[in-house]
Amino acid sequence: MSERDLTDGFHLVVEALKRNGIDTIFAVAGIPITDLLRLAQAEGIRTFTFRHESSAGNAAAIAGFLTRKPGLCMTVSAPGFLNGMVALANATTNCFPMILMSGSSDRAIVDLEQGDYEELDQLNAARPYAKAAYRINRPQDIGIGIARAIRAALSGRPGGVYLDLTAEVLGSALDAETGRKSLVTVVDPAPPQPPAPASVARALDLLASALRPLAILGKGAAYARAEAEIRSFLEAAGIPFLPMSMAKGLLPDDHPLSAAAARSFAIGNADVVMLVGARLNWLLSHGRPPLWSEATRFVQVDISPTEIDSNRAIEAPLVGDIKSAFAALNAARKPGGIKRQAVWLDEIDKRKRQNIERMAARLNADPSPMNFSSALRAVRNALAGHPEVTIVNEGANTLDFARNIIDMPLPRRRLDSGTWGVMGIGMGYAIGAAAVTGKPVVAIEGDSAFGFSGMEIETICRYGLPVVTVVFNNNGVYRGDPQGLPYSPTGLIRGARYDKIIEAFGGAGYHAEDTPTLTSAVSEALASGKPALINAVIDPTAGTESGHIGSLNPQSALAQKK
Ligand code: ADP
Ligand code: MG
Repeated sequence: MSERDLTDGFHLVVEALKRNGIDTIFAVAGIPITDLLRLAQAEGIRTFTFRHESSAGNAAAIAGFLTRKPGLCMTVSAPGFLNGMVALANATTNCFPMILMSGSSDRAIVDLEQGDYEELDQLNAARPYAKAAYRINRPQDIGIGIARAIRAALSGRPGGVYLDLTAEVLGSALDAETGRKSLVTVVDPAPPQPPAPASVARALDLLASALRPLAILGKGAAYARAEAEIRSFLEAAGIPFLPMSMAKGLLPDDHPLSAAAARSFAIGNADVVMLVGARLNWLLSHGRPPLWSEATRFVQVDISPTEIDSNRAIEAPLVGDIKSAFAALNAARKPGGIKRQAVWLDEIDKRKRQNIERMAARLNADPSPMNFSSALRAVRNALAGHPEVTIVNEGANTLDFARNIIDMPLPRRRLDSGTWGVMGIGMGYAIGAAAVTGKPVVAIEGDSAFGFSGMEIETICRYGLPVVTVVFNNNGVYRGDPQGLPYSPTGLIRGARYDKIIEAFGGAGYHAEDTPTLTSAVSEALASGKPALINAVIDPTAGTESGHIGSLNPQSALAQKK
């Protein structure tokens, strides 16, 4: 047989990816995947290589959320794999479709624990944190292995899939014809799953009995791209809604039915709540008092049957995909079947107006140094007229304030700490979003949060991505330390100039100590379409401990007794 009739693991992986429309890889190069990345790039797959696997994995995960194709992250063995696992676990937790492909060392040596280079039983390490985990042991299984990974990531509730590629399989030769025949094109990995008509009727009946109905929209609804169907249902029935943070913009935040500015009132007083791709987890106080009433009755639309009844009894489950479910609700809804509850809508409006008025004083103040509200107002002013911008947001106070102050006009433009409230997603999400949308990204980062992925500023500059990072610099986690004292566990260096970091890589650095400078820096950076980092100086006394979730921070029982 001549050499021309042979293929190998590297070529088969690249062919399998191309055949399934996976056109982008987020990775860190090294043994044994370096040549795989080179080949993929030569074959027209876009490759973004990072400084740390967590960021590469976070970029892949958010690319999966935004494109509904599994985001692909590739890493080296053991330590690189483990760095990528944080992102894979986070993707699974957030229901983002992602595949982590890691090279691995010699099975014979690893399994006898004989001490190979970067030895680790990666497959078993990945299992508890992944939706599915597979290993490919023969080159002829590459096609089927990648097909299984794609289907597992996308089908039903999306999630993170681990795929183990041994160095041996990558380097193995295979007869080219056998190789070609072994490749698989995945057909319809996430088919529509309409709910049963009886479930639709039950949900409509419960909603028709409501005097104070409320819909809570989650990022599952954003992923499902069901905004048109959801909007027509809510508008026709007159049901107010609350968006979870990554569902902001599904219906615009300034929509008259938005109850966001009256959140606690709406939740506490609703008699029937419709959960739409939102889990009743800690972010919604598990549906328990004091925020929630014991009397509230629930409709839940979710693709995962076991999500139902996870925290509260669900009287009307709608198990299926949200787009099909709302198409069915719209089709089965009788005109006037759900009556517009004018008293309830007026009550919510009154609360909204009161709360907005109360917030206005804080929002319009212009203290020096800036606080979170005034700095966010400055950023918001620069964002006006740029609905195409994707916002990435992490931090504690920076996250809490930005979620409330930065309105989203369009769906899937707000990406943040998500279900875990994780720190470290910032630059990975920003790069992933810029890579797949081709549109500008503004990352609004707490100074501590930024530190977890800050070295990826080099990645942003290397690829010339239109990412504007605004570091809310208050000298610490939650707040800064007072001058003169030694650094506390939450303190960070005082007066840091984060803008100098990006200058090292040829990007544009800005330093802003007041709101006009901050607004013009964001505007100028956005207009340039180039990488920029703005060091926004925030009053070090402005933040609160643990942001809005201080109640989750345990206090010593002894201290409380004193
Ligand atoms: P949020 O944090 O915004 O409240 P969650 O991540 O808690 O959102 O909830 C998302 C929910 O959406 C999950 O329970 C998931 O099963 C569900 N989901 C994801 N995709 C779909 C879909 N296409 N159709 C229906 N439900 C979906
Ligand atoms: Mg801080």
